[in-house]
Amino acid sequence: MIKGVIAIDGPAGAGKSTVARLVAKEMGYTYLDTGAMYRAITDKVIRSGTSLLAADEIGKIAEETSFKLHKPNGDYILLVDDVDVSERLRSPEVNKSVSVVAENERVRMALVAIQRELAKQGEVVLDGRDIGSFVLPDAQWKFFLDASIEERAKRRYEELVEKGYQVSYAEVVEEVKVRDRKDSTRALAPLKRADDATLIDTSNLEIMEVVDAIVSICRQGA
Ligand code: C5P
Repeated sequence: MIKGVIAIDGPAGAGKSTVARLVAKEMGYTYLDTGAMYRAITDKVIRSGTSLLAADEIGKIAEETSFKLHKPNGDYILLVDDVDVSERLRSPEVNKSVSVVAENERVRMALVAIQRELAKQGEVVLDGRDIGSFVLPDAQWKFFLDASIEERAKRRYEELVEKGYQVSYAEVVEEVKVRDRKDSTRALAPLKRADDATLIDTSNLEIMEVVDAIVSICRQGA
C-alpha cells in the first residue's frame, strides 16, 4: 500500500477537481489534477496545428512536455513548460478534443510516469479517471465521485458561462456524454471505479459535505 496517497476518480463534472483541491488543503497534502495534464497536452496539440490523427507527433509532444507544481499562495498551480496555462485548459475546444488525446498510449505512459513519481513522495491527492484503478492501485485511500448526467452537465455549463464562453446547455450535455463514452470505453486505463474505491454520489451534496466526508475517512485511517 502507498501510504498518504488519496486517489479521487470519476466522470466529467462529478466535482473531482474542486473537491480534491480542498481535500489537499485540509490534509496539508500536495495536489495534482491529472485531467489538467491531459488538457495541457491537448492545448499544445491544438496550438501547434497538429492533427488529432497524428498519433506519433502527439506522443512526442507529451514526452517533451515538462510539468511542475508551483504553490505561490497556498494553492497548487500546474506549470506546463514553466508557464501557468490554467485559464486556457477548460475551453470548449480542449473539452472537445481531450478524450482523443487521452487515448494515445504514449501520452498516457508519459503522464502516468510523472504521476507515479510524484506519488512516491507521499502526502498527495491526485484526481482523474484511472488513478485508483491503474496509476496507483495501491493508494491508501480511493474515492469515486459520481453524479447524474444532468447535474454534471449543469456544473460544466455554469463553469463555461462564468468564463465567458458562448455555449448552450444542450451542447454541454452532448459533450459530457461523448466524453463519458470515450473515457469509459477506451482500451487503455478506461474510466472505471476500482472495486475498493468508496463511491460518493455528489448530485445532492454541497462541495464541503463531500470534502468533509473524504477528510474524515482519511483521518480515521491515518
Ligand atoms: O478531469 P477532466 O475533465 O479535467 O479531464 C479531462 C479529460 O482528460 C478526461 O475527459 C479524460 O479524457 C482525460 N483524463 C484521463 N485520465 C485521467 C484524467 C483525465 O484520461 N487520469
